[in-house]
Amino acid sequence: MKSYKVVEFGKPLQKVEEANPAPQGTEVLVRITAAGVCHSDVHLWEGYFDMGGGNKYEKAMAPPRTMGHEIVGEVAALGPDAKGAKVGDKAVVYPWIGCGKCWYCQAGSEHLCPTPRALGINKDGGFADHVLVPHAKYLYPYGNLPVELACLYACSGITAFGAVKKAVGHDAGKPILVIGAGGVGLMGVRFAKSVLGHEPIVADIDENKRKLVLENGACAALDPRDKESRKQIMDLTGGTGVGAAIDFVGAEASAQFGVRALGRGGRLVVVGLFGGTFSMPLPMFGLTGCQIMGSVTGSPAEMKEMMDLVTGGKVTPVPVIKRKLDEADATLQDLRKGLIMGCAVLVP
Ligand SMILES: [Zn+2]
Ligand SMILES: [Zn+2]
Repeated sequence: MKSYKVVEFGKPLQKVEEANPAPQGTEVLVRITAAGVCHSDVHLWEGYFDMGGGNKYEKAMAPPRTMGHEIVGEVAALGPDAKGAKVGDKAVVYPWIGCGKCWYCQAGSEHLCPTPRALGINKDGGFADHVLVPHAKYLYPYGNLPVELACLYACSGITAFGAVKKAVGHDAGKPILVIGAGGVGLMGVRFAKSVLGHEPIVADIDENKRKLVLENGACAALDPRDKESRKQIMDLTGGTGVGAAIDFVGAEASAQFGVRALGRGGRLVVVGLFGGTFSMPLPMFGLTGCQIMGSVTGSPAEMKEMMDLVTGGKVTPVPVIKRKLDEADATLQDLRKGLIMGCAVLVP
């Protein structure tokens, strides 16, 4: 098999050729037909997350590692105890795999497991032509979706879906605010419409991304640096502010903007991993009843719920940029520089 690995943080991915692994026990070997390149791969490749104030979180991934957690493919081989799949089955791989033993895993929240076995982070992932999956229960059928779209639901999709679900019951029947129109943000725009019933307002500092998102399901696109932007949000929500805002950037400025856009009792859901810290006056909680919460991907049950929605044709696809697997490193760099308009996907 061929893979592109992080051997040293911040250095070009290294091409590695080796024999296909033989699946053991319940494992399934999947031949990859497409794999998304996610913005979190940029942070994993850099080797740290910016915790603000010069602090870094550096323990997310240990090289050498094949990144890539948005994987779709065909079952190529089965371990002796594998059940629930056969050779040739086509599936999206749920990558947020836990230890299987802890309280979170037992409760169905494998994505919150403190000792994860996530593909492309803790185990080798999708920047390759094959991947080992610990059990066939992590394979989800994708119906008639094209492979380059199907793979995106494993992270961009489930992350956006998990965040949008946290706005259910908090949107007050009005458009929510989506901050950031990168790959996950674009997915968030589509899920906001299909789950909440309203096209959202989108804020992004990049003019090209604002144009793109207006063509892809936003009711309005504004520049958060524009002095009038908060007033625009008030005008678009009948003067009250949004009931929910989802921050797909996760920077100080984006979170501040999100809080300022909220109406009374509003909820800010922070998803993005750009980095930094932010502060707000504590009386704001007691005076406005606002909420701030995080969201991280989604559970296997949410993956099933989302795949049923998307395979049922209920969600409009996002724009996809196709690249060759051999361009894995260049694609990662383009994403880092903000040059990818839509979601980047590697194909063999
Ligand atoms: Zn991701
Ligand atoms: Zn666990």
